[in-house]
Amino acid sequence: MLPPGWDALGKDSFASSEFEAVLDGREDYKPEEITYFSGFRPPPGFLKTLPNLKAMFSLGAGVDGFLRDPELPTLPLTRFVDPTLMHEMAQYVVMHVLIAHRGQRFFDAAQSESAWRQRMLTRASRDTRIGILGLGDIGGTIAADLLPFDFQLSGWSRSRKNIPGVKSFAGEGELPQFLAQSDYLVCVLPLTDATRGIMNAALFAQLPKGAWVINVARGAHVIEEDLIAALNSGHLAGAVLDVFQTEPLPEESPIWRHPKITATPHIAGITDAQAALDYVADCVTRCESGKPLENVVDLKKGY
Ligand code: NDP
Repeated sequence: MLPPGWDALGKDSFASSEFEAVLDGREDYKPEEITYFSGFRPPPGFLKTLPNLKAMFSLGAGVDGFLRDPELPTLPLTRFVDPTLMHEMAQYVVMHVLIAHRGQRFFDAAQSESAWRQRMLTRASRDTRIGILGLGDIGGTIAADLLPFDFQLSGWSRSRKNIPGVKSFAGEGELPQFLAQSDYLVCVLPLTDATRGIMNAALFAQLPKGAWVINVARGAHVIEEDLIAALNSGHLAGAVLDVFQTEPLPEESPIWRHPKITATPHIAGITDAQAALDYVADCVTRCESGKPLENVVDLKKGY
């Protein structure tokens, strides 16, 4: 099941292999002939209709689109871990941290009035604390790419990390301490039962006054009404959102017009079609030759 426009690339990726790719839009396949499945958000209940399925390969780094299926077959599920995408996600975060840190919106507004308005930085980068919720593949890359800018970096994960220049907070017990020292909170957690709705009124209240929130993970991590309330009360200074409870973000959503929110249409990291198809071909080859799969999801943990 491939996104539109990937068919031709899919044919190339599989051209030199002995495997046939059943591409999206073909309705003449026989369910019993499908042995591998790759996609992003398969319709719940679909995968159980494939009786000879051996493995599933997510085309995204997140697998919540698979795990939402209550009848998901208990088979190996891999996720797409692509260094190019990881750095693109990091670029997005670095760019928005710097835009906010340097007060660029103030200068954009001044330019729109042809006004020469100078202003000092409100805080040096060495005194500015950035906390990353989720210090996995992408969170770790974001930290590494932020490192040269001289911010104070920390991250929160389930297990303790040892990343040079990044203070590690681990587990629920250390979350309050982590939040209290995050002037910028960047969310790059997987969406699981434990993280759904994690960014809510209670969490925002634990951030320092004037903090920023950047969400590049999943829309369901944020209770949008609580975020807007925390921005309106002045407790939070701004938010950058790439993902939303409902996507596409409905035209009537107040998020589009909120003066303290920058909203982008889920583009922080865009899966490169050729890289993804090469990954799928590699997964199939590994399965067929008995080699272990890489980046297999722990179905119990949910990521
Ligand atoms: P990883 O699995 O590599 O990392 C997940 C991190 O979150 C780990 O550090 C993990 O801790 C931590 N974590 C998970 N659950 C908890 C919890 N309950 N409490 C504390 N920490 C937790 O994932 P990636 O970095 O590759 O991707 C993260 C997410 O980014 C994806 O799931 C996807 O939703 C999103 N994404 C968004 C994109 C976009 O365009 N906006 C593009 C790509 C991905 P530990 O290390 O201890 O296991």
